[in-house]
Amino acid sequence: MVKVNENYLKLPGSYLFSTIAKKVAAFTEANPDKEVIRLGIGDVTQPLTPTILEAMHKAVDEMGKAETFHGYAPDLGYAFLREAIAKTDYQKRGCKVEADEIFVSDGAKSDSGNIQEIFDLSCRIAVTDPVYPVYVDSNAMAGRCGDYDQKQEKWTNVIYMPATAENGFVPEFPKETPDLIYLCLPNNPTGTTLTKTQLQTWVDYAAKVGAVILYDGAYEAYISEEDVPHSIYECEGARECAIELKSFSKNAGFTGVRLGYAVVPKDLKVNGTPLHSLWARRHGTKFNGAPYIIQRAGEAVYTDAGQQEIRGLVSYYMENARVIREGLTSLGFEVYGGVNAPYIWLKTPNNLTSWEFFDDLLSRANVVGTPGSGFGPAGEGYFRLTAFGTHENTAKALERIKENYK
Ligand code: PLP
Repeated sequence: MVKVNENYLKLPGSYLFSTIAKKVAAFTEANPDKEVIRLGIGDVTQPLTPTILEAMHKAVDEMGKAETFHGYAPDLGYAFLREAIAKTDYQKRGCKVEADEIFVSDGAKSDSGNIQEIFDLSCRIAVTDPVYPVYVDSNAMAGRCGDYDQKQEKWTNVIYMPATAENGFVPEFPKETPDLIYLCLPNNPTGTTLTKTQLQTWVDYAAKVGAVILYDGAYEAYISEEDVPHSIYECEGARECAIELKSFSKNAGFTGVRLGYAVVPKDLKVNGTPLHSLWARRHGTKFNGAPYIIQRAGEAVYTDAGQQEIRGLVSYYMENARVIREGLTSLGFEVYGGVNAPYIWLKTPNNLTSWEFFDDLLSRANVVGTPGSGFGPAGEGYFRLTAFGTHENTAKALERIKENYK
């Protein structure tokens, strides 16, 4: 008899963004004259830059001629893109990563959801709390997380590592020993990050306990401070214990274009088995390659002009981050992030819960953000605003917040 994968039935509803959408819809219906500004979802607003567009147009034209047409892309990605990534993102920074250790994909969401497949179901995962939900949900779907405890809002077989203001958003090493450790740095949602010395302690810890770190660097382009590492491979020993996932979404505005990559170093082995060959097998079996046009767009990101243009995009959003951070700080809010990340994580005022503050901000300032509790129980009492809006909307949102929270 056919049976469904019952692990899916254990998943809590994807409550966060649907509840936000419902609340905003109800507010707009009741207040049709009020303009709502959305600083909630982490999608970008600025268009693709000229060098990237030009490369895409050229690739589209190539696809229209028999001599330059491209069919299936190599599963692991075109060499022109893998080489550009290896050179610019790693070798220029002194990290030893070769082009054939890079696996091109359609984005970091797919990779961060799929990577767990190459590990045994008995592996225990450790995640920070709050956390980007994909890490936990993908493991829960596979049956690795136990049961969901509605009351505690936690899975019974997941090791949670709280990241709060009390520990400076630097989680302590867990008491129980994990097999897989998910780290997202700079962090979504807290916007905080680790220094190289702090990250090195995680690499040393993973090496000591025999765990693998799954390092999500989707927001790497937003790092502005000197002592913050741009890759986990800046740390000694990381090639033997870490996989790094990257995205073109937030640095180059590819959220609707779709491109990312995973680095699986050849030195990374579990009980003698190289994870590189497992991921190559998985990728080759289940993924038919990112489109040629998009990989050419990705290649353009690494040209001098492309690099300059994407720095412009990042600066644009970081100017919003500054406006939000400084505006909220001047009002006496306790504010984190927004320096090395496009997210501002604030403590809700007057001990409001995350959802109470969501309602308050929506009704008083007509601004939408994301309740911190939606990212995990330790996010309760916090709230996330994103810097991905336009300058105009961000400035307007802050003016309204200043008027209403003086
Ligand atoms: N990882 C983190 C931490 C994210 O916040 C996001 C998107 O918001 C992603 C991955 C997804 O990136 P992509 O658009 O490349 O799938």
